[in-house]
Amino acid sequence: MAFSDEVIQRAWERAGGQCECQRRTHRHFYNPCGKQLVWAMRGRDGRGGWEADKIAFTGEDTLRNCEVLCWDCHDSIMR
Ligand SMILES: [Zn+2]
Ligand SMILES: [Zn+2]
Repeated sequence: MAFSDEVIQRAWERAGGQCECQRRTHRHFYNPCGKQLVWAMRGRDGRGGWEADKIAFTGEDTLRNCEVLCWDCHDSIMR
């Protein structure tokens, strides 16, 4: 997990400050999660907490492979 600050900033802007998760195994099922996040809460648990995760675990540290996830979704894909 080593995205540059620039990639994370751009991913955040792309996401519009919302969780981008579309995994069907999560509680939001067939809907995108879309939870509203707080920039300052990156890497923290709690309201508005989020993290920038890799979409493909073995993929590159690029914007294309970067996904903004709320803490619940981030937690659900930890392995
Ligand atoms: Zn989410
Ligand atoms: Zn999710």
